[in-house]
Amino acid sequence: MGYDQNNIFAKILRGEIPAKKLYEDDYALAFADIHPRAPVHVLVIPKGPYVSFVDFSAKATPEEIAGFVRALGRVAHDLGLDAPGFRILSNAGANGGQEVPHFHVHLFGGKHLGPMLAA
Ligand code: 5GP
Repeated sequence: MGYDQNNIFAKILRGEIPAKKLYEDDYALAFADIHPRAPVHVLVIPKGPYVSFVDFSAKATPEEIAGFVRALGRVAHDLGLDAPGFRILSNAGANGGQEVPHFHVHLFGGKHLGPMLAA
């Protein structure tokens, strides 16, 4: 599947749609999810045009992968989630329930998050 340059997160990266930005560097952008499912619900996305985790892992450069992973860890740390704990999750494709075709990691925290998956 090719990358859709008009997906919502591509528009956020280009500044065409506003977002509550929490962190940004050369490799990643973190912003608040518009429909939060936990007290803290942040989306962390790479800046490159990758559809999913498989696409990102196969095509991103080592620098992009390292930069993205470090940004994700930094955001979790800077939001104070390391000690109380948190959850990261990435939906992929139809079975994963992915809505936006730009690779993203959900970062949840701020309360006990319960079981890993809905029953
Ligand atoms: P997915 O189901 O693809 O893993 O998650 C997509 C997420 O993007 C959802 O949690 C949804 O609330 C969030 N989202 C969709 N549109 C927007 C938007 O325009 N702005 C922000 N900040 N989040 C969005």
